[in-house]
Amino acid sequence: MNYISTRNNSKKVSFEHVFLKGLSEEGGLFIPEKLKKFNNKELKELSNLNYKNLALSIIKIFTGNFISELDLKKLIYKSYSNFREDNVVKVNKFNQNYLLELYHGPTLAFKDVAMQLIGNFYEYYLKKNSKKINIVVATSGDTGAAAIDAIRGKKNINIFVLHPNNKISSIQRKLMTTTEDENVFNLAINGNFDDCQNLVKSMFSDISFSNSINMSGVNSINWARIVAQTVYYFYSYFQIGKENLSYSVPTGNFGDVYAGYVAKQMGLPIDKLIVATNQNDILHRAISNGDYNSKKVEETISPSMDIQVASNFERLLYDLYSKNSEKVKSIMMSIKDNSFSIQRDELKKLQSDFISERLDENEILNTIKDFYEKFNIIIDPHTAIGVGAVKKLDISEAVILATAHPCKFPIAIDKAISKTEKLPGSIDYIHNKEEKFEVISNDLKKVKNYIINSI
Ligand SMILES: *Cc1c(COP(=O)(O)O)cnc(C)c1O
Repeated sequence: MNYISTRNNSKKVSFEHVFLKGLSEEGGLFIPEKLKKFNNKELKELSNLNYKNLALSIIKIFTGNFISELDLKKLIYKSYSNFREDNVVKVNKFNQNYLLELYHGPTLAFKDVAMQLIGNFYEYYLKKNSKKINIVVATSGDTGAAAIDAIRGKKNINIFVLHPNNKISSIQRKLMTTTEDENVFNLAINGNFDDCQNLVKSMFSDISFSNSINMSGVNSINWARIVAQTVYYFYSYFQIGKENLSYSVPTGNFGDVYAGYVAKQMGLPIDKLIVATNQNDILHRAISNGDYNSKKVEETISPSMDIQVASNFERLLYDLYSKNSEKVKSIMMSIKDNSFSIQRDELKKLQSDFISERLDENEILNTIKDFYEKFNIIIDPHTAIGVGAVKKLDISEAVILATAHPCKFPIAIDKAISKTEKLPGSIDYIHNKEEKFEVISNDLKKVKNYIINSI
């Protein structure tokens, strides 16, 4: 499979390039030149597979000669061996809808599903090629923990994680900062998530810097993450066995819901993808009326979605604007100036796949409370946004992605239902361990220096 960039579709690159570089030289995002579309017979065959074999059948389409099928199978089995569910994820029915529990991995959020695999991809690649790399990644809370767990202790690889100082839950922070492995570095940036993401983007586009440290990225723009996430759309669709399911996805950087869009493009007959946001609602405004004006990021009880620059949206724009990479380039400029809106024809196209809804803080708390009272299930604030969106839109036969374990957000849960959700025993240790992180101002030069001095 060949890949191109959303900002330059004349240059073709391999999966290896896409995986290691993350971002193209023009600052664009990589996408396959052409996606495979499964026919009904192929879908039927896929529907009989367990999660790991299904993952193999889907992921091998994208990895090309990066890895042999046998080695890929080994890596998939290894990656998912430390999940608390044999089939990695779990479908839970309530009323006319379904919860797709994605938080049974080591750091209790859906990001483990892709990240565990990616950690092993790196290890495989570096061993084969005797190389060393440095991963630099921004996190709104969950990516960092998932990435650290996937990379810690591995040879020839360091990981630097930038999180917004004091803007993530203490459990989220402790999952990152109590790691003892010497290849893990936590940077608490005095700013918000978008600031962290901008610092990482600036380092990537500074070619001499990024080449000098052999920099690589695992943010949700990494195509390998998207691919790994498409698997659970297929798996849950087959498990439920009904036609025309819609998926409600708590959305921040537009990675997870974009994976659903890729699954749909590959032939999975998903009806609508519901983009559910908190009050940082740029994507809800964009999808409901074309308004793509970025506002100031507000802190909420769903911190992993406190984002106003949804990086992966660029991939969708590429499709909406007829795969015209020059057009995408100019749109990205006007987004930077905050002067972009989606016009009528493109909006119509967008709305044929996506609908959206937003929840404010009270609605989130009320949804957690309602859900607990009705079904005796505790959902985390992010998942509650997916649940609440389905209710507000009055949709049934929807699958809601349960993106994090409620114990990661004890303050919000306590506020909603006056209860504390305990950490699973295997993770309880984080409470008694010393934390290690460096507070740094939102300053590119300081961050670069810290990285250079650490390696
Ligand atoms: C990262 C995250 C999201 C948002 O996912 P995107 O791919 O960034 O849209 C939602 N919920 C939780 C718990 C997360 O960690």
